[in-house]
Amino acid sequence: MKVGIVGAGMVGSAAGFALALAGTASEIVFVDQNRALALAQAEDISHATPFHSATKVTSGGYDALDGADMVILAAGVSQKPGETRLALLERNTEVFRVVVGAVLAVVSDPILLIASNPVDIMTHVATRLSGLPRSKVIGSGTILDTARFRSLIGRHLGISPQSVHAYVLGEHGDSEVLTWSNARAGSIGLSAFAEQVGRPLTQDLRQSIDHDVRNAAYRIIEGKGSTYYGIGGGLARIVKAIAQDQQAILSVSTTTDVVEGIENVTLSLPRVIGRAGVHLDLHPDLDDEEREGLRRSAEMLKDLSGKLAL
Ligand code: ADP
Repeated sequence: MKVGIVGAGMVGSAAGFALALAGTASEIVFVDQNRALALAQAEDISHATPFHSATKVTSGGYDALDGADMVILAAGVSQKPGETRLALLERNTEVFRVVVGAVLAVVSDPILLIASNPVDIMTHVATRLSGLPRSKVIGSGTILDTARFRSLIGRHLGISPQSVHAYVLGEHGDSEVLTWSNARAGSIGLSAFAEQVGRPLTQDLRQSIDHDVRNAAYRIIEGKGSTYYGIGGGLARIVKAIAQDQQAILSVSTTTDVVEGIENVTLSLPRVIGRAGVHLDLHPDLDDEEREGLRRSAEMLKDLSGKLAL
């Protein structure tokens, strides 16, 4: 599989690095308006790959995307001092207008994997601008928040995060919803498992995990300026599900017909992912509080995306 990455900054390069080491793609091509940066990232990453895989890593202009099966969009501008969220969104919408048009001029029917933030809104924008089926425009959404959630639960229970089945739904951001009520460890309900191993999930512990998941990005940004390895790993996981037609269930963002009564909203739900993109949306059973949280998250995203001229 050939994967294009538009935006060779921190997030794009971390995704390319994770993908190249895993050997999931046969070829990765970086494109950036800063050509020297794309070239340098490709060259640097291509020196790490021979230790792990045979993935070819190159860079070029948009024409180099010819033959790509998927394109990761990680291009964007960052917030200027004093700039409102909406003004930033409008500038990033303009970036996507250029980027999506340029990608589609070369690749007629790609899967677009959106990484630029705020990812739910940018996925909404890319869906509208591209005219591609919703199932083929996938935002990384809460894939990373879900991984953080599972990892903190797993650490507390003393089990692998991969044996924890729990999802973060809604916005990738402040209004996201950690769904405790349907979480399981192996095949056992989380609370029952926690009792069995003598590590109960007290209200205080749940609040602390909620706080840590919700504020992880702020904490990392405080320490090192931005976050990229985590999301790079998450993007590589989504590419693998598609490249290997896994029908894996991952929490990702796509435009969805109805979520808690809100129509045509772009946010994360667990979805079945394979070669054609999103094959199926899942609507998990939630308790009343989680359901209300998801409705509020959907409403906020719907309002914000409605303010953009698309
Ligand atoms: P992040 O941490 O989100 O990766 P960066 O600023 O490191 O943020 O990377 C964003 C990248 O997007 C930069 O390398 C920038 O040159 C690129 N970019 C911005 N606008 C465009 C555009 N119109 N076309 C291509 N690349 C773009």
